[in-house]
Amino acid sequence: MSFREALLTGLAPDGGLYLPVRIPELPMFATPGRRAGGRGVGERDFRETARKVLSVWLDGILDGNALGDLVDDAFDFPVPIVPVQGLDQTFVLELFHGPTLSFKDFGARFLGRMLGELTREPVTILVATSGDTGSAVADGCSGIPGVRVVLLYPKGQVSPTQERQLMVDRPGVTAVRINGSFDDCQRMVKGAFSHPALDGLRLTTANSINIGRLLPQMVYYIHTALQFERPPLFVVPSGNLGNLTAGVMAGHSGMAAAGFVAAHNENDFFPRWLADRTARFAPSRQTLSNAMDVGAPSNFERLEHLFRAAGAHASVQAVRVSDAATTHTMRLLWERHGYLADPHTAVGLTAILNPSHSSVQIANRTCPVVVLSTAHPAKFPEIVKSATGQTPDVPVQLAQLEGAATRVRDMDADGDHVAELIRSIY
Ligand SMILES: *Cc1c(COP(=O)(O)O)cnc(C)c1O
Repeated sequence: MSFREALLTGLAPDGGLYLPVRIPELPMFATPGRRAGGRGVGERDFRETARKVLSVWLDGILDGNALGDLVDDAFDFPVPIVPVQGLDQTFVLELFHGPTLSFKDFGARFLGRMLGELTREPVTILVATSGDTGSAVADGCSGIPGVRVVLLYPKGQVSPTQERQLMVDRPGVTAVRINGSFDDCQRMVKGAFSHPALDGLRLTTANSINIGRLLPQMVYYIHTALQFERPPLFVVPSGNLGNLTAGVMAGHSGMAAAGFVAAHNENDFFPRWLADRTARFAPSRQTLSNAMDVGAPSNFERLEHLFRAAGAHASVQAVRVSDAATTHTMRLLWERHGYLADPHTAVGLTAILNPSHSSVQIANRTCPVVVLSTAHPAKFPEIVKSATGQTPDVPVQLAQLEGAATRVRDMDADGDHVAELIRSIY
């Protein structure tokens, strides 16, 4: 299977996930002494690192100039590594400065542009969403020639801020509010791939099962590792495990890391599995960090494969964090360290602020710790306010949505209706 086909189809015909046959060693790590990066090395610019990393993966697919333009266009926002005041060697990698204020912007913006480059016929991206993916894909893929987006979300089950982000009228994007649950939305998306009325149309999905979303996520791990003298420990707030998989893939391509900690909320399949390989998926439970409410992580089989291929699991640990501990961390972090975190990031920060919460021995660590911050606190103002008493400042990306034109269709949870809609806009 070519990379192009894998990207365009998203999922393999047998329902499996695509993985690279070989993970290429990155030249930037080939010189001894450079493995851990270090300040002298000078890879300070995110886009510069993105060009170097992605050119290895996209060799023969996209030429250097096209890739350079794509990178400049997709990643046109800052990616700061912020030290936490009063905590030694502890940093937050803020991945939420893109247009929809979550790390999903990296994958969605890159994937949309790659689809635009690679497709010779119109392609329709279908997304079922209950949170950050929908708005990131809608925004990231809007206006790209040949690319349309149909996003389905469950009525009454997304937050007001999230719904405003989903409903904004964007060229090439059709938002559909389904009279049903998130599971109904997901079933409708899956059903569309085998619906007879859609035979022969180019459909794909932009959920994190698409390999095209993982590549740009590797870049911010590598960018970060290059800033430190010593290999850092990465703490990754996790749900479907796409973000963690990207980090592990970066490790396989030569990046030195002290390890990875997957921080989960009460949906704790992965921590249970690391402790006991007979652990099973479980139904998802609602928590304060709703983008991580995943009982059956979709990237798990990729991760398991990477573990088996290289025995990398030795460097991966996982923790389970309760809502009570998450709220406590948000308050502590604000009061003692002056940092306002969203509930997802707070799950990650709990692993270092409250080691009793984990089996992880990071209390006596000697390496820098980098917690990936996956969303802006202003996306969850109610939770942040009740935990800290603070109302997060509204960033310009959200302020712009006030008064913006909206367009949304209402639909019953019926596969024929959605097929009809896809046909009508194709
Ligand atoms: C999607 C998401 C996550 C979980 O990421 P995975 O790659 O699914 O593990 C964490 N935080 C936020 C804010 C998200 O939107």
